[in-house]
Amino acid sequence: MSEISKAPPPELFTLTTDQWTKPFWEAAAAHRLVAPKCGCCSTFRMPPTPFCPNCLSQALEWPELSGHGVLYSYTIVARAIIPEMAAHLPYVPALVELPDAGGVRLITNIVGAPLDALEIGCPVEVVWDDRPDGVSIPCFRLVRTD
Ligand SMILES: [Zn+2]
Repeated sequence: MSEISKAPPPELFTLTTDQWTKPFWEAAAAHRLVAPKCGCCSTFRMPPTPFCPNCLSQALEWPELSGHGVLYSYTIVARAIIPEMAAHLPYVPALVELPDAGGVRLITNIVGAPLDALEIGCPVEVVWDDRPDGVSIPCFRLVRTD
């Protein structure tokens, strides 16, 4: 049986926001996955940036997404680089493409997945990792297709 992917430990993570990322994390706290979209030309951008790379506008909208994506890339971390990570192995940092946000990619973790089931291009859906400090992290799990 394949090992199951886990999430990194919450005590190693401290969220810091700014005016460009705060709306993302406020929506995440309510378990809503959103992506920044230019208020002028409708180009999505991830991560949020002060200026649209297409038209240089600073206007932003934050439409809610379906939470469905496609596994674009991943790696399996099987060795603890610090002792605090040992109980959280293996974990799977990943890039998930979000088709309903113009194909932007979110850096995330794949959780609850048998490692031998991971495959580039497989469908994934958001799940929320609710941390003790009130922060909710969007992670993704494999979507069963059977
Ligand atoms: Zn724009």
